[in-house]
Amino acid sequence: MRAITLSPGVADSADLEHIPEPPESHGSILVRSLALGVCGTDREIVSGAYGEAPPGSERLVLGHESFGEVIEAPADSGVVKDDRIVGIVRRPDPVPCPACAAGEWDMCRNGRYTERGIKGRNGYGAERFRLEPKFAVKVDASLGVLAVLMEPTSIVAKAWDHVERIGKRARSWKPGRLLVTGSGPIGLLAAMMGTQRGFEVHVLDLGKAGKDVIIRDLGAHHGTGKVADLDFKPDVVMECTGAPSVVAAAVHCVAPGGIVCLVGLGPDHPMTFDIGRFNRMLVLGNDVVFGSVNANRRHYDMAADALAHADKSWLGRLISRRVPLSRWPEALERHPGDIKVIVDFTL
Ligand code: BGC
Repeated sequence: MRAITLSPGVADSADLEHIPEPPESHGSILVRSLALGVCGTDREIVSGAYGEAPPGSERLVLGHESFGEVIEAPADSGVVKDDRIVGIVRRPDPVPCPACAAGEWDMCRNGRYTERGIKGRNGYGAERFRLEPKFAVKVDASLGVLAVLMEPTSIVAKAWDHVERIGKRARSWKPGRLLVTGSGPIGLLAAMMGTQRGFEVHVLDLGKAGKDVIIRDLGAHHGTGKVADLDFKPDVVMECTGAPSVVAAAVHCVAPGGIVCLVGLGPDHPMTFDIGRFNRMLVLGNDVVFGSVNANRRHYDMAADALAHADKSWLGRLISRRVPLSRWPEALERHPGDIKVIVDFTL
């Protein structure tokens, strides 16, 4: 079968290769790929800056944003032939640490977790893949190809889950305004889940990609100015750019009792940062700044719920380009107007 493979650490080593069928050791559920989303992490892996091959192998099968249909599954697996399915990305570390032992592999304490298509485990960028029932998420067939948004939505769902858990430290917590920095898929899905929670949502971006209409159609406000120039103080900030200067401004802009969730990743960037002022703001304002990565099964369930309640035609606009597997490198290109680009295995 065809698969997108590469040698982690070696820039531009990615290729469409013929590899053997997925071994049964990968799980009892055999899945035919229908679509694969690509994101910044995939670009980083292809550039050689990130990623790790499975033990004993030089090549890694790329891809972690899966969507497929079940070809075969055992009776006790919870899914049947033709079900639509998405694979969870992370697997618990082998120790396991207390978090992984409790099914919260997204909170792994020793860093020995693995991730399909990213770290030490083959991914979903192949015509067929296998899944263990515990890491298979059945999706509502009515979502169609929109189910490929499940993985990025699970990342956002985890961020929201933790914001809400932190918020509950004060019995009186009633947040009203959400600021989202960045309007990539994660930013737009964070904004969507904010509107679902009744927030007044403000999305800031550079204004380059023409996302204003899609943001307004969500019922959110769109701005292109600087975070430091906002004329209000948000109660919750979802920082989705990872851009150092935006992160620095975002952590300073919240209202007292505010929560800033960092979900973006950016480059190293030594810069002057007044840690004394930051400390005073956090202490005197009871503010929280925290980071969030990955998702556990509960977050996939939250994501399924968020997608089920979303406007499907709005969600459909997030999938801005589809590329056939034979031309998969085009999925990594950045075209004007791109939001989520997918490899469509049905083309
Ligand atoms: C994936 C996460 C993963 C993270 C770090 C992201 O692109 O969506 O599942 O934990 O990369 O590897």
